[in-house]
Amino acid sequence: MSASDFRVTLLGTGTPIPSAERFGPCTLVEAGAQKFLVDAGRGATIRLAQLKISIGAIDVQFLTHYHSDHTSGVPDVWLTGWLTGHFGRRTGPYRVIGPTGAKRLMENLERAYADDIKIRHADEKFPLAAIATDVREFDRDGVVHDKDGVKVIAFEVDHGDVIKPCYGYRFEYGGRAAVLSSDTRYNENVIRYGKGADLLVHEVASARPALMGEAPVRRIIGHHTTPREAGRVFAQTQPKLAAYTHLVLFGSEHVAPPTIDEIVAETRETYRGPLVVGEDLMAFEIAEAVTVRRWQAPSLPGKVEAA
Ligand SMILES: [Zn+2]
Ligand SMILES: [Zn+2]
Repeated sequence: MSASDFRVTLLGTGTPIPSAERFGPCTLVEAGAQKFLVDAGRGATIRLAQLKISIGAIDVQFLTHYHSDHTSGVPDVWLTGWLTGHFGRRTGPYRVIGPTGAKRLMENLERAYADDIKIRHADEKFPLAAIATDVREFDRDGVVHDKDGVKVIAFEVDHGDVIKPCYGYRFEYGGRAAVLSSDTRYNENVIRYGKGADLLVHEVASARPALMGEAPVRRIIGHHTTPREAGRVFAQTQPKLAAYTHLVLFGSEHVAPPTIDEIVAETRETYRGPLVVGEDLMAFEIAEAVTVRRWQAPSLPGKVEAA
């Protein structure tokens, strides 16, 4: 398999629940020479470092919505990408594209970190031009980025009546397409913009029936897509590969969360096509076919073999 120059890597497949295995929601899209992040949840910079990708090398930070699990890594990407060293210091402004609210978020982060910026500028002489932000907001479906053959289209999704705005993204490059659902309930717009996608990355949420009697669980599940519903989305869009991310799997002290096998089995009730359950650092090479690469941790230097 030759590596494609169109690649999607799941940096964080988790939720607000702190987890060492599934970091906060964040997806890296590489197309040609450009690198994009979609959201930046907890630990995004750690995942970039694992891939040996400079934090300062991100061309555009896209945002889907303003739940903190999707944005808590934004100040880390923005501020750490300004530093020297193997972070690969950013030379221009931190570019952000998101639905209405992106400007407020970044303006408030600039206020929150004003002292750090002042100190590092005075002490380490880091240029202010590279900690500046360049934020573009949108409020409807349409093309939000079009450069060097890469087109990014934002489309509104339905994450609940109050959780607005919330948008998914379709990345088009070299005649191929990767579509990210963002957080959403079953939504016709995902099907519309997901049509003809090589890769469709979709969120999923599930709880056992025993927990569905609890109002908070019901409410949260109601903001997301069940495996059966996601299967219906996949069946109607027919991607070359469907992948799950943002796995909301409810458990309690007495009720175990649904397993990955159960999520797949429920999806299979409505969809028979290619499906993979995402893991952190899982990569998808988008070429003639979509190839999945699981992360293999590099072996530790100096590791001693057992006698
Ligand atoms: Zn979320
Ligand atoms: Zn959300």
